[in-house]
Amino acid sequence: MANGSVVSAAVKRLDGKVAIITGGASGIGEATARLFSKHGAHVVIADIQDDLGLSLCNELESAIYVHCDVTKEEDVEKCVDRAVSKYGKLDIMFNNAGTGDEFKRSILDNTKSDFERVISVNLVGPFLGTKHAARVMIPAKRGCIINTASVAGCIGGGATHAYTSSKHALVGLTKNTAVELGQFGIRVNCVSPFAIVTPLLNKYFNLDEEGVRKTYMNLKGWYPVPNDVAEAVLYLAGDESKYVSSHNLVIDGGLINSNVGFPMFEM
Ligand code: NAD
Repeated sequence: MANGSVVSAAVKRLDGKVAIITGGASGIGEATARLFSKHGAHVVIADIQDDLGLSLCNELESAIYVHCDVTKEEDVEKCVDRAVSKYGKLDIMFNNAGTGDEFKRSILDNTKSDFERVISVNLVGPFLGTKHAARVMIPAKRGCIINTASVAGCIGGGATHAYTSSKHALVGLTKNTAVELGQFGIRVNCVSPFAIVTPLLNKYFNLDEEGVRKTYMNLKGWYPVPNDVAEAVLYLAGDESKYVSSHNLVIDGGLINSNVGFPMFEM
């Protein structure tokens, strides 16, 4: 069960739906691509890691890979158009691609170029994804957009300035676009995970599985895996959440609401 779905895929919750997943070649995006596929979706994996993306596609029931750098508008535009030309529509846009930057002890050591690079992938990317998904979803008067934010989009001190800023702003973009696009029946939500072992966590947060196990967790007894986020994304993508919009679904075992400096409930 470690990486498996808790809901039987015999009930196909996304049957016939078309989903683009940016950053779909690895980590949370890969887990979501696998889960969406099990639930009957046609999946478009949009990434810059071509070999990984292509080999994942070969394992899925109905999937294509599109090379798409989310910071480039022409790539995002073409990716949306490819999804529509291949499968006839776009139901779900999962703006999940993300990056980080090396931690520096002081803001004085932060560089403008690093800051802009992170903002470009983590914020401009979802902006472009939302814009071009909306372009085809508005005439259809339906659709679902989901962004991957982070607990770093809710609190300070958990990540670099660039990463924290990008994720806070992404929660803002989610809320604003949900308000605009509601009139067209389009829902916009985000997920905010914490400490999922992926190449990104490894590279930019210097955390592997052992490190995460040693990290403070509010909820004991479960070690989070990419599929835990994929399950939340599946809920937001499916009809079970048809009246949920502008929501930030935090997947952190209650961490950001706990006060480790004031452990009044500790036994
Ligand atoms: P990951 O490294 O496994 O996946 C990130 C993917 O994004 C990779 O496949 C990468 O190639 C792709 N990508 C990077 N830049 C891109 C670009 N310019 N265009 C297209 N694709 C690009 O890491 P992950 O942890 O699965 O990250 C997925 C998302 O989850 C990110 O937005 C990340 O910020 C967010 N997140 C992760 C955690 C965690 O603990 N792992 C926590 C909170 C939020």
